Amino acid sequence: MTTSYIRLLPIDLPTAQTGYIPYRHSRYWRSDIELALADQHQPGIAVFMTQKAYVRANVHAHTDLDNEVGGWLIGNWREDQITGEEYIVIEKCLPAVYARRGSDYLTFTQDSQVAMFEIMEEHFPDKELVGWYHTHPKMSVFLSNYDLFIHNHFFPHPWQVALVIEPHANVGGFFVRDRDGNLDARHYFGFHELAVGLKRSVVHWANMKEEFTGSLAVMENKYE
Ligand SMILES: [Zn+2]
Repeated sequence: MTTSYIRLLPIDLPTAQTGYIPYRHSRYWRSDIELALADQHQPGIAVFMTQKAYVRANVHAHTDLDNEVGGWLIGNWREDQITGEEYIVIEKCLPAVYARRGSDYLTFTQDSQVAMFEIMEEHFPDKELVGWYHTHPKMSVFLSNYDLFIHNHFFPHPWQVALVIEPHANVGGFFVRDRDGNLDARHYFGFHELAVGLKRSVVHWANMKEEFTGSLAVMENKYE
């Protein structure tokens, strides 16, 4: 008897390449929960998202205001050359076409996972699956037990994140593991908005506040 396996995760675990953490080219958006619980749960990595990817995720989130929609976050996982600080840059949002969904659940089917890895191999061979996103229409921003199951099984790397968007109230948040790999299902974080060439912010989530951390500088269109 033969057993066939469907490989959902690459066998060779990727290693972080080095880069320069792009603080200078970004704005930090701090979530209301972070402000309230500043010292409790510290993220193990810094999350950067391009403006294009942010807009794409939010446009997808608004395509269905009754049922959950979602998909994958594609980008790079890096380690700063100087400080060793780990970070991810989310550059693409890939809607999960074959996902089964309802008003309060979203399932990534095996077909959808396989399709996603095929798309990644073909179009983004130098990128990593840095996480996933989904919506919670008319609910709040949190990870359900089912979401935690999905996250721990399909996105087990310490640097993989979950983004939840609530399209009615226009709120969102990132769930990021701490340095010990623990995830808090209620404590969501903001993110660094990569603003290429001094562009105006596109972030409109009502539960985030901009924190001015440094000067924005013009950079080459590396993340466009
Ligand atoms: Zn959920």
